[in-house]
Amino acid sequence: MDNYAIADNFLLLAKLIDIHGDNGFKAKSYASAAFIIEKLPAQLSTLQADKISELRGIGASIGKKIIEQLHSGRLQELDTYIIKTPVGLFEMLKIKGLGPKKIATVWKELEIESIGELLYACNENRLMLYKGFGGKTQQNIKTSIEFYLNNQGHYLFSQIEVFANAFTKRLESELNYTFLLTGDFRRQAEVIHKLEWVTDIDQQSLVTYLTANEYTIEEKEGLIEAKGSENVAMHFYFTEAVHLYVKLFETTGSHEFMHAWHEAYPNSINSNVTKEEQVFLNNQVAFVPPYLREQASIINIARANAIPQVVNVCDIRGIIHTHSNWSDGSNTIEEMARGAMDKGFEYLVISDHSKSAFYANGLYPDRIKAQHQLIRELNEELAPFKIFRSIESDILNDGSLDYDDMVLSSFDLVIASVHSNLKMNEEKAMARLLAAIANPYTTILGHMTGRLLLSRNGYPVDYTTIIEACAKHKVVIELNAHPRRLDMNWRHIEQATSKGVLISIDPDAHQVDAFKDIRYGVLAAQKGGLTSQQNLSSFTLKQFEYFLLKQQAKRR
Ligand SMILES: [Zn+2]
Ligand SMILES: [Zn+2]
Repeated sequence: MDNYAIADNFLLLAKLIDIHGDNGFKAKSYASAAFIIEKLPAQLSTLQADKISELRGIGASIGKKIIEQLHSGRLQELDTYIIKTPVGLFEMLKIKGLGPKKIATVWKELEIESIGELLYACNENRLMLYKGFGGKTQQNIKTSIEFYLNNQGHYLFSQIEVFANAFTKRLESELNYTFLLTGDFRRQAEVIHKLEWVTDIDQQSLVTYLTANEYTIEEKEGLIEAKGSENVAMHFYFTEAVHLYVKLFETTGSHEFMHAWHEAYPNSINSNVTKEEQVFLNNQVAFVPPYLREQASIINIARANAIPQVVNVCDIRGIIHTHSNWSDGSNTIEEMARGAMDKGFEYLVISDHSKSAFYANGLYPDRIKAQHQLIRELNEELAPFKIFRSIESDILNDGSLDYDDMVLSSFDLVIASVHSNLKMNEEKAMARLLAAIANPYTTILGHMTGRLLLSRNGYPVDYTTIIEACAKHKVVIELNAHPRRLDMNWRHIEQATSKGVLISIDPDAHQVDAFKDIRYGVLAAQKGGLTSQQNLSSFTLKQFEYFLLKQQAKRR
C-alpha cells in the first residue's frame, strides 16, 4: 500500500465520521493525518513500525492504524463505516459543494440517499428550507450533480435530445451524407445509453472525420462505436444509399419486435425502398410508428389495421398537478394561471403539498381556506379560464389521506401520492396504495411507484391489482410527465386502459417553465398506445367539469 492509498482511507474515514455525526475530534485528527501522510517524503511501507508513530503529527493510535493497513491492506474502522453508509452517499462526496456536514443534513433530515433524489429535491426547492443551504448553494449543487450525472454516460431522453438532433445536423452539413437517428432514441425510450445512426457515408470517411475531431473509435463489422468529450456512446451503422430505409427499419425496432417481424415476414427486408413506410406497405401491414415497435403483439394489431391514434402534445387541454409558492413551487397561483392561459390551456389544477409534507411547506387547513378564497377571486377575473382547487395529499403510512373528510370535501379533486417512507416491500406498498385508492376522495393516484429514473427504483407494486382497484374505485392513474419520473411506467398503460382506467399526463410543475415537461409524458404515453380519449388532461374544460361531477358521486 502506498502513502496515497493510506491517506485516502483516512480522509474517507474522517468524512464518514462527520456524515454520521460521530466524534468530530477523531475525524479532524484522521483528516490531518491524511494531509501529513500525503506529503511524507518516504513511503510508510519502508519505515520500521516503531518509527511510524514517532512521525510528527501521527502518534500511537494513528500509527497503529497505519500498520494495520500496511499488514492487511484494510482499515477495519473504515470498513465498519462503509457498511453502515448508503452507497449513494459516496457518490454525493464526489459532488462539488457537498461536504460531509451538508451530506449529513441531506441524508438525515431530507432522507435522501442518492444524488438523483437530491437533484430532484433541488428542483422542488426542498434544500433551501435547511440550515446552510441558500438558493445559491442549491443551484450550485444542482449544476454539479447534472455535470456528474452527464459524465456517467447515461441520459434521460430530455437530457440528450438537443444534443442528438444538433449532432445529426452537424454531421449532415459537414459531411454531406444522410444520418438518420435510430434505435432507442427513435423509439422515444425514457433513458438513453447510446445514440445510434444509420448512414450512407463510407466507413473510412466517417472514421477519418471523427478521429480528426478527437473521438475515440472502435471499428466493428458494418458498425463503428465512437465516444468524444460529450461522453455519449454513439453507434453508426453503414449501408448503401438505396438501403438506408431498410437499415433504418432494421435498427429501430426492439429485439422482440424485430424477431417477431422476421418470423412473420422472412423475405420482407431485401427490397429497396425510398421510405420506411414502404417496408410495411410491401407486406400489407399498417405502418407501426417507431415508438410502438417494442412488443411483438403490435404486429398483429398492425395486420388488423388497428394501430391506435395516440395522444399528441397539442391534444393536452389542461394542466393537472401543479405546485405554487403556497407550498414548494416558485410561482404564484396567478402566474401559474396566466402562464397556462398564454400557452392556450383551458384550465389549471393547483395541487400544493398537504400538511405532512412539512419539508415542502405543506398546507394546514387555515391556509387551504385562504387559498380557496384566492382561487375564487382569480377565477372571477380570469374566466372562462378556470383554476381547480386540488391538493397533492400525502398517502400516510397507513394508507389514509392527510386531512379529515371535512377538509377533503373542500377540494374539486385530490391527487394522492406517497412521499415518505419509500423503502417498502411490496406487501406494505400495496396495502398503503390500495387503502388510498379505496378512499372516496382520491381522484388521481400520483406517481405510482416513486421511481426516479437513473437514480432510484420505485417501491415494488403489483400493477394488475392496482389497476383493478383503480377501475373499481374510478381512480385515475397519473403518468407523471417529469422526465425523471415518467411514472406510471408506460409498459402498463395498455393494461390500465383495457380495464377502462383513465390515465392523466401531468407535469407536476413547480414553476410555469415546467409545463413543457408535458411533452415527455406524451412521448412516454405514445409508447403505451394511449389515446387522447383515455387521457384526463386532454379533456376540454367542459368534459373535465363533467368528469368531476361524476367523481362527486363517490363522496356521497
Ligand atoms: Zn409528488
Ligand atoms: Zn407534485
